[in-house]
Amino acid sequence: MEDHWFTESCEEGGSALSLRIKAKLHEEHTGFQKIEIYETTHFGRLMVIDGFIMLSSRDNFIYHEMLAHPTLYTHPLPKRVAIIGGGDCGTLREVLRHPEVSQVTQVDIDERVTRISEIHFPELCVSNKDPRVEFLFTDGFEWIKNLPAGALDVIIVDSTDPIGPGEVLFSRDFYTACERALAHGGLMVQQSESPLLHMDILQNMHRGMKKGGFSHLKTLFFPVCVYPSGWWSATMARKGVPIDNFRQGNVENSPVQTRYYNSAIHQGAFSTPTFFPEQLNLEES
Ligand code: SAM
Repeated sequence: MEDHWFTESCEEGGSALSLRIKAKLHEEHTGFQKIEIYETTHFGRLMVIDGFIMLSSRDNFIYHEMLAHPTLYTHPLPKRVAIIGGGDCGTLREVLRHPEVSQVTQVDIDERVTRISEIHFPELCVSNKDPRVEFLFTDGFEWIKNLPAGALDVIIVDSTDPIGPGEVLFSRDFYTACERALAHGGLMVQQSESPLLHMDILQNMHRGMKKGGFSHLKTLFFPVCVYPSGWWSATMARKGVPIDNFRQGNVENSPVQTRYYNSAIHQGAFSTPTFFPEQLNLEES
C-alpha cells in the first residue's frame, strides 16, 4: 500500500508534523475558510482548516477539557456561558456537563464547521440538542459587542489562530467588549498557542487583556500532541477578582468523567515555567 501523509508545516518553529492518512473524507471551501477531513491510521479523524490542524479524534479531549473545566470550576456559579468559535462542538460538550450552566450560546462564524463535525465527529456533537444551547453563526466580536453589560459569567474563546477570520478575536477591542459583557467576577479564557513558539502572541494577549480592563490573568499549560511543538496554553482573565482558588471539592466529588482534567492537573497546569513570568510580567497588576 502506498504511504500517504498529511503534513502541517510551522514556519515560526522551523518544524512540521505529519500524520499518516488512510483517506481524505471531505474538502470544502466555505466562503470563510477551507475545511478538510482526513481518516488517519493512528489518530482517528483529523480536521484541518486552511492547512492548520484543528483537532484529531485521538487527542482532542485534552484541549477541550482544559479549555472548559479549569475556568468553569474557578467560577463559583457559572450559569450564563458563551463559546466564541468552537464550531466542532467539543468544548460545548464539556461545558454542558456542568449542571450549574443554564444557558450556552455558541457563536461560530462558519456554520459549515458544525455541520461537517456532526457528520465526521459525531462523538463531539452528542449534546448539540441540549435545550440549554443556542447556536449562532455570525462573527463572535460583532455579537459580543452588542450584548448588554454584565450579561455573561464565562466566555470561552475556542478560535482558530490569529489569522483570517480569527484575527479579530486576538484584538484589544475584542477583550474590551468581553470585559464589558461579563458580570463582576466573570471569567474569559482563550486558547493562547504554544508557549515555546508563540511568545509574541501570548505577550500581545496579556497586554490586550489588561488594556481591555481585566485586572487578573493566568496562563495554564497542557499538551496537545497535534499542535506545533506539542505544548499548548490557554489564558484566563477575570473581571475584578483574583484567580486564586477553584471549587476543588466539586472537582474531586464530581460525577463528570474526565479523561485528562482532575484536581491535581488543575493545580499543576497553572505552574509557570521559570522563563515565563519574566517575559510576560505574569505577576498580577
Ligand atoms: N481547537 C482549534 C484550534 O485551536 O486549532 C480551534 C477549533 S474551532 C474549529 C475554531 C473555530 O473558530 C472555527 O470553527 C472558525 O470558524 C471559528 N472562528 C474563526 N474566527 C471567528 C470569528 N471571528 N467569530 C466566530 N468564530 C470564529
